[in-house]
Amino acid sequence: MILIVARPLPGTVSETRRVAHLFPKPSTYPGQLIALCGAKYWSGDLEMLNGVRGMPCERCLARSPEPNGSIASADP
Ligand SMILES: [Zn+2]
Repeated sequence: MILIVARPLPGTVSETRRVAHLFPKPSTYPGQLIALCGAKYWSGDLEMLNGVRGMPCERCLARSPEPNGSIASADP
């Protein structure tokens, strides 16, 4: 599974909820992305990251098959 890392853009959620979620790479983009923890976001509300930065979502990390192995960059 290819994973991408993204967090909500400023203003879309409270600052304390702006954690870096892991998402299975979507087949359709833009569109709705569902994080491994179950959080749903519209792609336009997300800031794509080249790796886990800031505060990661612990629930996403716990569900990641390979915490450090298969996280792709935001570039296709
Ligand atoms: Zn998450």
